[in-house]
Amino acid sequence: MAQQRRMGGQPMFIMSEDSQRTQGRDAQSSNIMAGKAVAESVRTTLGPRGMDKMLVDSGGDVVITNDGATILNEMDIEHPAAQMIVEVADSQEEEVGDGTTTAAVLAGNLLGEAEDLIEQDVHATTIVEGYHEASEIALEAIAEQVNEADVDDEILRQVAESSMTGKGTGGLTAESLAETVVEAIRHVDTDEGVARDNITVHTQVGASSNATELVPGIIVDEDPVHDGMPSEVEDASIAILDVELGVRTGDVDAEYAIDSIDQLNAAIDAEEGELEGYAQTVAESGADVVFTTEDVNDRVANSLANEGILVFEGLGDSDARQVASATGARRIGDLEDLEEADFGSADRIHTQTFGDDDLAFVEGGAAAETVTVFVRGGTEHIVDELERAIGDALDVVATALESGEVVPGAGATEIAIADKIREEAAGIEGRKQLAVTAFADAVDIVPRTLAANTGRDPIDVLVDLRAAHESEGRAGLITKGDEVTIDDPFEYGVVDPADVKREAVESATEAATMIARIDDVIAAE
Ligand code: ADP
Ligand code: MG
Repeated sequence: MAQQRRMGGQPMFIMSEDSQRTQGRDAQSSNIMAGKAVAESVRTTLGPRGMDKMLVDSGGDVVITNDGATILNEMDIEHPAAQMIVEVADSQEEEVGDGTTTAAVLAGNLLGEAEDLIEQDVHATTIVEGYHEASEIALEAIAEQVNEADVDDEILRQVAESSMTGKGTGGLTAESLAETVVEAIRHVDTDEGVARDNITVHTQVGASSNATELVPGIIVDEDPVHDGMPSEVEDASIAILDVELGVRTGDVDAEYAIDSIDQLNAAIDAEEGELEGYAQTVAESGADVVFTTEDVNDRVANSLANEGILVFEGLGDSDARQVASATGARRIGDLEDLEEADFGSADRIHTQTFGDDDLAFVEGGAAAETVTVFVRGGTEHIVDELERAIGDALDVVATALESGEVVPGAGATEIAIADKIREEAAGIEGRKQLAVTAFADAVDIVPRTLAANTGRDPIDVLVDLRAAHESEGRAGLITKGDEVTIDDPFEYGVVDPADVKREAVESATEAATMIARIDDVIAAE
């Protein structure tokens, strides 16, 4: 539809004839519908009994996951308003690492409530004001729910376990994985805060997830260049080279004009001498372990194996950097500069074969307190989902440790938020009160969905939760094994970091109000 204005009787086109324009209620309702639909699509994955989704892309690649952010990103969403819900999940993932489904579902429900309000002729501006006011009350309610006890290792384990429950980990495993996660975080906890970047996650298919363990160092996908090399070196001196230990490729292509056998032998001797020279230089340098980003000639490898030196070749740049930062080694670009001063060190380097894969473990590196969660699982899909779950758990434990604030999970915090908003809404004048109350109704989606996903009637559960909240102050729908009960989540160790709830409220409010305020969509062809 072409947009035109008249100036002095002449039509003036201000937009391309091909652009699409939707205005007013139509624009609002189509945006709201798109946003709601996206949020709805992840609702069934929420909570310990949430279901997984299998996403198949056009190339046939399959991802099986329960993680809100992953699902929304794999879905290849195009509608701009729907895309904003995806951004809510993304920013939640980036800021606090968990609560992505909660944030997306909340944003969708805030939009649903906004739609009803618009139908009742409440103006978008009033909705936006009411939502902002309600979100402030929500933040106060979250503060009131924060634990009084110190966040100790036991609570951190609970935080980890709560974030992993229902993530394809199985009940028992979540418990032992939580242990590993807390151990990892404690390892990198310093006076300046949690050095989360010093924890890496390495996945390896081919064992039960119970075999997942913490490695005090880093793991690289490399095997020794020669079978005769040691598979373990203690107190290792480590050199990292960006040097090819062989006859340089340039020399091989060169043409030799050889007239006699003597000349040929001389050429061969020269080459062998050169190779021997490399091996000798390395052996004499005092390095026990060598990583090189280039290739190692077989003859050199053989000589180095005889010297008892462990050598890895063809290292990727990022692995080389990782080894350097863990061991304190400086990368060497020329064999002539091979000096002990540039070597790094580690307590132990060993290699191990897992099925078709060979891994090198660099433990107790001198330079950095890096640790690796070595994730095991039966299949590719299982380790991938475990990797995501453990990544989230590491993030939430770091968040909880840094802030020292956790709140009850299992819907209890949401019940408290909705309750406080309704209480304070009574004192708010005019139509804005409708918007504030609608916010409380939207927050109910979390306990309602937890109920629905455990096969309970959402209305009955909501009524019971409110009553229990009224009398006990904390009440959630707790799932432990096969049991589902309404009780104080703190008693059962179902806890979430307060920051996860804050971020969910803030990002969902922001997205919902932004979408509700739009009443004109102009799209270029
Ligand atoms: P999100 O992507 O929002 O983190 P999850 O599927 O991880 O979604 O579900 C998180 C919700 O599940 C939180 O509200 C959390 O308190 C709740 N939860 C975690 N463990 C339990 C449990 N054992 N019983 C009941 N609710 C739980
Ligand atoms: Mg979660």
